[in-house]
Amino acid sequence: ARPVIAIVGRPNVGKSTIFNRIIGDRLAIVEDKPGVTRDRLYGTGEWNGRAFNIVDTGGIEIEGEDEIMKSVRMQAELAIEEADVIIFMVDAKSGLTLADEEVAHILFRSHKPVVVAVNKVDNQGRADDVYEFYGLGFGEPIGISGSHGTGIGDLLDAAVGKL
Ligand code: GDP
Ligand code: MG
Repeated sequence: ARPVIAIVGRPNVGKSTIFNRIIGDRLAIVEDKPGVTRDRLYGTGEWNGRAFNIVDTGGIEIEGEDEIMKSVRMQAELAIEEADVIIFMVDAKSGLTLADEEVAHILFRSHKPVVVAVNKVDNQGRADDVYEFYGLGFGEPIGISGSHGTGIGDLLDAAVGKL
């Protein structure tokens, strides 16, 4: 079976934007199975000659801080179960939040390979924003922009390199 890369992070950081850029039009149709939550999208991708499945977690928009925390936690745990590598996405514009730290804690305990993607680094002037996220403890964060499509090659180099 193909290795699985999962994109995890709190709502609105840009997970779906990056997922769509990576899969192009290779969205996978997944049958409803018991125990599989419907708010996850599956697609396929290929990079450096490696084919993989990729999961966009957290498809349903939720309101309220408690609900967001609960769902972010659940998505992180599901990603740990099914993924070989996890892309942990954060947002350079809003900076590090409590929900990010919560996700980091769950991922850290799992010992799965994690790549931190700092999205919304829309111009080079903002490249410094990436350094704040070193403190998450997963090594060098990679600055990307879903709006401009920049940094996605570097992100895939790092993620596929850990498969
Ligand atoms: P998700 O909830 O994590 O799946 O996030 P989405 O992909 O739905 O994106 C949330 C919002 O952020 C949308 O309004 C996107 O257009 C916006 N967005 C995504 N990527 C970027 C980016 O690189 N820069 C900026 N400025 N906005 C972005
Ligand atoms: Mg989404």
